[in-house]
Amino acid sequence: MSAERVSSRAMIVAIDGPAGVGKSSVARGLARALALPFLDTGAMYRAITLAVLRAEADPTDGEACGAIARAVSVDVASDGEVLLDGVRSGGEVRSPAVDAAVSPVSAHPEVRREIVPVQRAVAARGAGVVAEGRDTTTTVFPDAEHKFYLTASPTERARRRAAQVGQPERVGEIEGELARRDRQDSTRATSPLMQASDAVVVQTDGLSAEEVVGTLLERLGGGGSRS
Ligand code: C5P
Repeated sequence: MSAERVSSRAMIVAIDGPAGVGKSSVARGLARALALPFLDTGAMYRAITLAVLRAEADPTDGEACGAIARAVSVDVASDGEVLLDGVRSGGEVRSPAVDAAVSPVSAHPEVRREIVPVQRAVAARGAGVVAEGRDTTTTVFPDAEHKFYLTASPTERARRRAAQVGQPERVGEIEGELARRDRQDSTRATSPLMQASDAVVVQTDGLSAEEVVGTLLERLGGGGSRS
């Protein structure tokens, strides 16, 4: 086991899935129920993207993005909020500009190389973690004892995201944005979004975040999540 790997005694619950499926709400609720820290890996890539935009660098330039990722510090506060150079990133990491640039920025191996060790270090700080993202079940925590892949139809995901940002009238536009991000995230060469062969797939159409948390807790209580 490399120094970067997390102790096998830590309880790692890893949750992946496409954009807008509700991973953050579910992972946050599950972390609360299990009294574990919550790790929003997407927010870390969003923080780097914010730094790239502030530096007016090109999101498609791997070398430039990698240099920025090495120059800034990204960490998480004890409540799970991402810190960029020690400062709470707040709503700025969810801006439309970050939404549009985060997939190209996070596709660069130079960026992922900086972020993944931080994610493992966060998990190693305590008794474990509930982590969510695109590659937590495959790359970040391949040995996690509990792995889930959340899915929902594109329309349902767009409806949820539109409601979350308070813009129900933009549902069609949001569906297009999510599809574009999913395409970029699942076709990139490094750590693409994919279903781990040992992840339990949870179809969440028509379910509230609380109901999905309940489903995952049942699986966890049932002697492990591997199918
Ligand atoms: O989860 P969220 O939608 O906030 O993630 C934003 C973006 O960050 C994703 O679209 C993806 O490009 C990137 N990401 C990633 N790997 C992760 C989590 C997120 O590349 N583990």
